Amino acid sequence: MAKSALVKTVHTDCPVCNTFHQVEERARMTSTTIKGEKVFYEEHFYSCKNSGSAPDRKERNEFKTVALDDENLMSARNAYRKAHNLFTSDEIVTVRENYGLTQVELAKLLGWGEATIARYESKAIQDEAYDTMLRLIKENPLMAIQFLDKNGDKFQEPKRMQIRTKMIEKLDAYGKEYLSRQPLVSAYVKFSIPSDYNGYKLLDINKIESMISYYAEQASELYKVQLMNMLWYADALFYKTYNNSMTGLAYRHERLGAFPIGHQSLMQLKNVNVQAEEEYEYTKYHFYPNTALDRSELSKNEMVILDTVSAKFRNYSASDFVDSIQEEAAFRQTNQGDIIPYSMAKKIRAF
Ligand SMILES: [Zn+2]
Repeated sequence: MAKSALVKTVHTDCPVCNTFHQVEERARMTSTTIKGEKVFYEEHFYSCKNSGSAPDRKERNEFKTVALDDENLMSARNAYRKAHNLFTSDEIVTVRENYGLTQVELAKLLGWGEATIARYESKAIQDEAYDTMLRLIKENPLMAIQFLDKNGDKFQEPKRMQIRTKMIEKLDAYGKEYLSRQPLVSAYVKFSIPSDYNGYKLLDINKIESMISYYAEQASELYKVQLMNMLWYADALFYKTYNNSMTGLAYRHERLGAFPIGHQSLMQLKNVNVQAEEEYEYTKYHFYPNTALDRSELSKNEMVILDTVSAKFRNYSASDFVDSIQEEAAFRQTNQGDIIPYSMAKKIRAF
């Protein structure tokens, strides 16, 4: 039987010993079959410590409630969705709430049956075509406005205007974000094919923004040289472990370490919270967390890598980084100005 970990203790009616007492809620990895595929997910169950010590005690002391069964089913379906790159139920809620819509309103907006969104947020797994439509409006409010123009007759008038106003607000913010991304996107046009230079992954700006914010949360003070090198270490370590980079950034051998191509543009991203601080005759760039970002862009495996890099480097100074990176084959075997191939990350020494 798989190992389980304690989640919390709760007071409940225990069907094992038929009393009301404190039981443990525990979690373990398990698998189930969804749409003909084996899916691994974290299952929760309750464990009663009151009864005997027969060899099969463990199984007999376990029980689940209807609510816990529902949660487990949801976790299994979300694991399937993640494996298929479909929005999880929580992500669908986020898309909907971003526009201030109810479940019925979002379903009407997209021209679907009124109960569709409620089903996707609770149990059913959406088809790929439905998922694509949700993605379109998540990433682009202009698409949402087009849907509203098409399906507007399904709404009462004051409501339709109210929804439209909200979408136009989003469009304004989206426009600013879009424009702030263009210089970096342009710098990566020549890396639009997976290769050894981008770690076989295409540029993922949402992820980069979340990484920067997360690093800024972890470090007491995060400055430019530190950040740029920590991005490289995360990408290099991820590549060493999983054979592709996290961000799709390409890095150059620079005087002060490994810096992403387009690092100036990277600092201008709307969701990167950076302040210029004047110190004597030069400017220091100080990075802060962006409280508007959550961690949904970062997978469990990515978080582990970020925590590893952060634990090692969060108190490093710029010169500590220069010393550390000089030790790396990726740096020794390239010249200043060269792009550092990810294949060299396989020999990374810092970890
Ligand atoms: Zn009990």
